[in-house]
Amino acid sequence: MAPKGDNVVVSNMKLERMLSMKGGKGESSYANNSKAQALHARSMLHLLEETLDGVQLNSPEVPFVVVDLGCSCGSNTIYIVDVIIKHIIKRYEALGYEPPEFSAFFADLPSNDFNTLFQLLPPLANYGGSMEECLAANNHRSYFAAGVPGSFYRRLFPARSIDVFHSAFSLHWLSQVPESVLDKKSMAYNKGRVFIHGADESTAKAYRKQFQTDLAVFLRSRSQEVKRGGSMFLVCLGRTSVDPTDQGGAGLLFGTHFQDAWDDLVQEGLVSSEKRDNFNIPVYAPSLQDFKEVVEADGSFSINKLEVFKGGSPLVVSQPDDAAEVGRALANCCRSVSGVLVDAHIGDRFSEELFLRVERRATSHAKDLLEQLQFFHIVASLSLTNAA
Ligand code: SAH
Repeated sequence: MAPKGDNVVVSNMKLERMLSMKGGKGESSYANNSKAQALHARSMLHLLEETLDGVQLNSPEVPFVVVDLGCSCGSNTIYIVDVIIKHIIKRYEALGYEPPEFSAFFADLPSNDFNTLFQLLPPLANYGGSMEECLAANNHRSYFAAGVPGSFYRRLFPARSIDVFHSAFSLHWLSQVPESVLDKKSMAYNKGRVFIHGADESTAKAYRKQFQTDLAVFLRSRSQEVKRGGSMFLVCLGRTSVDPTDQGGAGLLFGTHFQDAWDDLVQEGLVSSEKRDNFNIPVYAPSLQDFKEVVEADGSFSINKLEVFKGGSPLVVSQPDDAAEVGRALANCCRSVSGVLVDAHIGDRFSEELFLRVERRATSHAKDLLEQLQFFHIVASLSLTNAA
């Protein structure tokens, strides 16, 4: 008989109080499993820089404020903030001005491992020195840093206080699994599945609605916080298919081996089928249309650019022919982003069993995974409209 779940049921808890990527620096930590995100972000730097070129520069007396939303706990956020600040410094200097002082806010949910992140920050540069000295000093930080705990699906900053909002690989995380998806009596009940990929149309509709409601709240909040002349650069998982039950790369990540591993646990009697059905990954990879509709309906931001960008594989392996390495990479990738939720739902022991099965299954499909697992991203460059 399947053991009664005496662990926390994710669906009953506020996701925002528990969601985080795997903290620390261990094998399945986010810090150790975010090289693909780093590579994808680097391939989009020209788009980020275009956005930064459109930001209005104010008097150098006023600090310039940058925010990374959904910063997590790896070095990617530190790299991006550095790119943004260096680019803005260059723009001030090109105009013959001394650059202003910079503030950088690293924002994520309260369970994020901010300690690991703060330890990765380079030491603060000596502000007594000149800006040239600051920049020349490698591994020095030319900004004041602060962590901000809270959901980006609400207000996080005072009105008109931020010059640039950046967010990468975060907005596909929903504020919650739609209630109807976990409600046995609802048409949208996602029976037998832990993700929307391959689900029924009504489940997909509920996920889509949740994504659009969340994004609308996000835009409304940011439109109040961004300074006039400020901009946002947003990147999240996206899909190329019109059909939301085809979630593309996210679908392969959470809808195939991960799904099968849950089914293994059910068949082996380790987890009840109801317990499995109560677990759903709160992720939605939108289409360009899904995203655009919300930005247009909100109306506070004008679209400088909105496109689907091919990011590539989330698996970074040194030996592509080594099936075991590929299998481990897939399991670690999956665990670094969903492990905290799985642990909370079925406990550490069964979570361990689950990811062992993910690894085994992925190892036996290594070649297919390397060929087929590709991430596409929605990239949005938005500026506050004059009317907002
Ligand atoms: N930007 C980083 C990390 C992306 S991982 C990078 O490029 O590598 C996604 C992050 O989004 C996680 O740390 C997760 O905790 C955060 N996140 C998800 N939902 C959030 C929300 N509602 N508010 C704030 N952060 C959120």
